[in-house]
Amino acid sequence: YTREMNASVEEKLMLLEGMRKAFDATQSGAPAAGQAGHFFLMYQPKVDLRTGRIFGVEALIRWRHPEHGMVPPPRFIGLAEESGLIVAIGEWVLRTACRQARLWVDAGLDPLTVSVNVSARQFEEKHLVERIAVALRDTGLAPGALELEVTESLLMRDLHQAIGRMRELKDMGVSLSIDDFGTGYSSLSALKSFPISTLKIDKSFVRDLATSADDQAIALAVISLGHRLHLRVIAEGVETEEQREFLAANECDEMQGYLFSPPVPADAITAMLRAQLQP
Ligand code: C2E
Ligand code: CA
Ligand code: CA
Ligand code: CA
Repeated sequence: YTREMNASVEEKLMLLEGMRKAFDATQSGAPAAGQAGHFFLMYQPKVDLRTGRIFGVEALIRWRHPEHGMVPPPRFIGLAEESGLIVAIGEWVLRTACRQARLWVDAGLDPLTVSVNVSARQFEEKHLVERIAVALRDTGLAPGALELEVTESLLMRDLHQAIGRMRELKDMGVSLSIDDFGTGYSSLSALKSFPISTLKIDKSFVRDLATSADDQAIALAVISLGHRLHLRVIAEGVETEEQREFLAANECDEMQGYLFSPPVPADAITAMLRAQLQP
């Protein structure tokens, strides 16, 4: 037991050390120099269920390690959060995503919203709103082109503070979306006071959508709740045509998932946006 515990503490320390090095390499722009690899972003299209057009992308962080290959975010985001490193990494994600979104604007492509995941630690950080304002100003991206994805459990940690923070962001013109909706314990009365624009149905409810009456009931409930609160509803993790049909038939607004595209490098998004430009 003790040996296992030590191993896991040791493992954590190694992972943390690796993350720090990889982040340093990422920031200094010398990814090859480090033994810890580097971070980069992939983007996954968000598609309008009625028109089939891409209207936004979600930025997702990736860590490529020279020995371990791709380290999946669930393996390191928690530790980044615990150690506080997420604040710096999160700011890098934000700035990188805003810079990329500005490049798409400059290329004359269809207007796009870029969504960035924000963790609890980052959301509660004192200077969050200021950092976002600076990132937008530095990159010249319109605030309306940025969306933050936050989870309900994050918002429930300190409801009062969270609502204040969300209002500041909304006043700035940045939109907010509730990620993984239905998986945290949320209060419906709190939902009413959140200045958000979108609910995202978690992929755990989408996976068996074609066969599970329970998941269908949940999806329908989220869609109708969202619409009654004047929110848009997006489903994540859409992998099959059956899932897409169910969502489209039941007035879900948007979708995201492997059916349309996995997360891809920015260049691939550029190509997709070019392909959907009107002739
Ligand atoms: P999330 O925000 O719920 O992101 C959705 C996850 O589902 C992503 O995993 C995405 O690659 C994956 N996905 C997309 N389409 C499909 C599909 O059709 N089927 C299935 N099964 N999965 C699909 P990923 O990229 O591994 O990220 C996992 C989690 O890590 C994210 O969940 C998010 O909570 C966190 N994360 C990722 N990037 C960041 C970041 O930049 N900052 C923060 N704070 N968290 C991040
Ligand atoms: Ca997300
Ligand atoms: Ca999600
Ligand atoms: Ca999730």
